[in-house]
Amino acid sequence: MPELPEIETLRQDLSRFMVGKSISAVSAANNRSIRAHSTVGEFEEPLIGTHVREIRRKGKFLSITVSSRHRQDFALVAHMGMSGQLRRFASRIEIPKHSHVVLELSDESLVVFVDPRTFGQLYLDELNDSGLASSLSRLGIDPINQPEQIFNALQKCMNRKIGIKWLLLDQSHVCGIGNMYADEILFRAGIRFDRPCQTLSAEEVAAVASAISEVLNEAIQLRGSSLKDLQYRDVAGGLGGYQNMHLAYGREGLECQRCHGIVERMFSKGRSSYLCRSCQR
Ligand SMILES: [Zn+2]
Repeated sequence: MPELPEIETLRQDLSRFMVGKSISAVSAANNRSIRAHSTVGEFEEPLIGTHVREIRRKGKFLSITVSSRHRQDFALVAHMGMSGQLRRFASRIEIPKHSHVVLELSDESLVVFVDPRTFGQLYLDELNDSGLASSLSRLGIDPINQPEQIFNALQKCMNRKIGIKWLLLDQSHVCGIGNMYADEILFRAGIRFDRPCQTLSAEEVAAVASAISEVLNEAIQLRGSSLKDLQYRDVAGGLGGYQNMHLAYGREGLECQRCHGIVERMFSKGRSSYLCRSCQR
């Protein structure tokens, strides 16, 4: 599942060729991909003829601001789910299988929502006062460019009994982190995934907060992570590079790069977690 670094890479790439263009045609072939709307027309019609002003991101969501002559500015929101991709194609002949929504831009290029597993979705939304899709207000802080707020958001939850990893995955405190980056962040912080929040010292919370900033920013620099079992591709179909830097996730049975112990995989709450028992306490 694409997480914050992959979605930020997508945002940067899409901004380069969508902002300043108009959307000249829209076709949604799969109702499940636009399930927030009761009819296809309710999704397609407002978008036709709009002008793309900017593309913002919060957590794992993109909020594409469009302006229209007929109504106030609004947002086209995109969530990739398990396997969604937004890809750019020069012509319809190139469009692959599982392409559910096609936006045609004023330069005739196509932005295509491809999603084999159909957990992702696109929907239209109003803008809130800060110019983001209103539905994204329910998310916690986005950790990029606000490192000091991460500590505060986590510290507020440190009276809880749940394991620290489940707090990181809960999008209502800090948003954008999924299973893969949570394991990388906790490895860097030296903390086990199942350590109850209430047992963490302020220094340990600070270590988690720093690791969130560092890991996510480094992953953005390398254009995210593409793994064999995951579907992440950038707009041109290219791969990210951060998977080669992983120290925990996907490294079951391999030597720990820090202590030369062995990275283990443990199952809890339906998810696997990768950790080094001697580096993470
Ligand atoms: Zn180790």
